[in-house]
Amino acid sequence: MIHSGLIVAMDDVSNILYDGALAIDQGRIVALAPSGELTEQYTGRKTINACHQAVLPGLINTHHHFLQNFLKGAPDHIPFPDWIDHISAPRIVLAVQDYLAGEYGLQYHATRLGCIEALKSGTTCILNMEWATPPEVIGVYEAMGIRAIHTLTLTDNDEWQRPGMLLPPEVAYELAEQLRIRCQESAGDRVTFRYGPACENSTTPGLLRQVRELANQNGIGIHLHIAESKYGWDNIHRLHGKTPVRYLHDLGLLGPDVLGAHLIWLADDDIGILQETGTTVSYNPECHMKLALGISPVVKMLAAGIPVSLGTDSPAVNDNMDLFEAARVGAFLQKLSMSDPTVVPAYQALEMATIGGARALGMADEIGSLEIGKKADVILIDLTGAHLRPVNNIVNNLVYSASAPSDVKTVIIDGRVVVEDHTLVGWDEQAVLAEAEEFAFRRFEQAGLERPRYYRTKLRTGANEKR
Ligand SMILES: [Zn+2]
Repeated sequence: MIHSGLIVAMDDVSNILYDGALAIDQGRIVALAPSGELTEQYTGRKTINACHQAVLPGLINTHHHFLQNFLKGAPDHIPFPDWIDHISAPRIVLAVQDYLAGEYGLQYHATRLGCIEALKSGTTCILNMEWATPPEVIGVYEAMGIRAIHTLTLTDNDEWQRPGMLLPPEVAYELAEQLRIRCQESAGDRVTFRYGPACENSTTPGLLRQVRELANQNGIGIHLHIAESKYGWDNIHRLHGKTPVRYLHDLGLLGPDVLGAHLIWLADDDIGILQETGTTVSYNPECHMKLALGISPVVKMLAAGIPVSLGTDSPAVNDNMDLFEAARVGAFLQKLSMSDPTVVPAYQALEMATIGGARALGMADEIGSLEIGKKADVILIDLTGAHLRPVNNIVNNLVYSASAPSDVKTVIIDGRVVVEDHTLVGWDEQAVLAEAEEFAFRRFEQAGLERPRYYRTKLRTGANEKR
């Protein structure tokens, strides 16, 4: 039972309760009303006084790559293709080669690191698109209590990849099948699986057709990067004489079970195709800005009724998992690009981070808003900070002033408190973070990749041992 909070329900009627209460039972929301009406009716095993706190549905991040968490603070002074070649790809190659050798420490630690940052940033549901992850990694999401959509990256186009990044096709499909089955059996059904053909360039038409067939056969969704860069767009146009969206549509890939990330380089006809097919979108504004990829026509897509959600992409291109910041930056970017401050108002931006994410993932019946019968994925935001005062309009204050990692006080998933009073429940957070960093940087060093100076120093001074 949560009472005395400022409830922002993000439901169809934009319900805001200024002294509201929320009752949770068996992992679901069973009542939502003014505090006075509920406090006597529900006594509950656990009561949270949410005075001076906003109560929101958990934030939903629809595009991420946990492995790249180790690249936080990565160089930003090189062109995107070089960045992939020199920064991102060598780590992916290492993870893929480790997988083939039966080692999965990098993925294991990356997932723990990613889950902690997500949870502490109020993200209750995240799509993690990952290379060569063994089924054991699904156990990490379960242990951390997060809701996740685990997506296995699939590629088969040598020309668009670094050697060593490709899993042999039979290994990749076998792994996809293992992950699909493992996710089906996940604790509380909190982890689901998606096929992840990396993008229109790194896959052959044959792979894209096969993924569509598998998705139909197993009732599983698809997630891929679409029309992310101009050079990628040029390549598809040169090879096929079509836009990436038209190309994917002609292959029969698009549909309501497809969530595309980025969708930057779009013609008006492409938006029509997305609308007709019911394809959904993950908008990652901070990545688009940092890598100077372009501006996604989000205003047009929203006007066409296309479900647009928010992603932070990986910390390698952002560099955080703050969805309030993504909502703020995403709205600002649209306002600037349209020369119109009225587009993407704060409520619409917050929708993208909550119910919009649920719609894009086809999960809106279960999560994304605070409504009776939905799963109890709830976050409490501390409103006492100077940067949030005075609260003139709670939605605008949250989108334009809040910082997820510092202001999210409590996180509840499936009715279970996983972050309480800014502290991760049941884990020694600092120990997990240090262990992950130490493992990854040692592994990178063994593989000839540089260990960051900070960790070289720590090792020399023994600071790590004194932790
Ligand atoms: Zn991505």
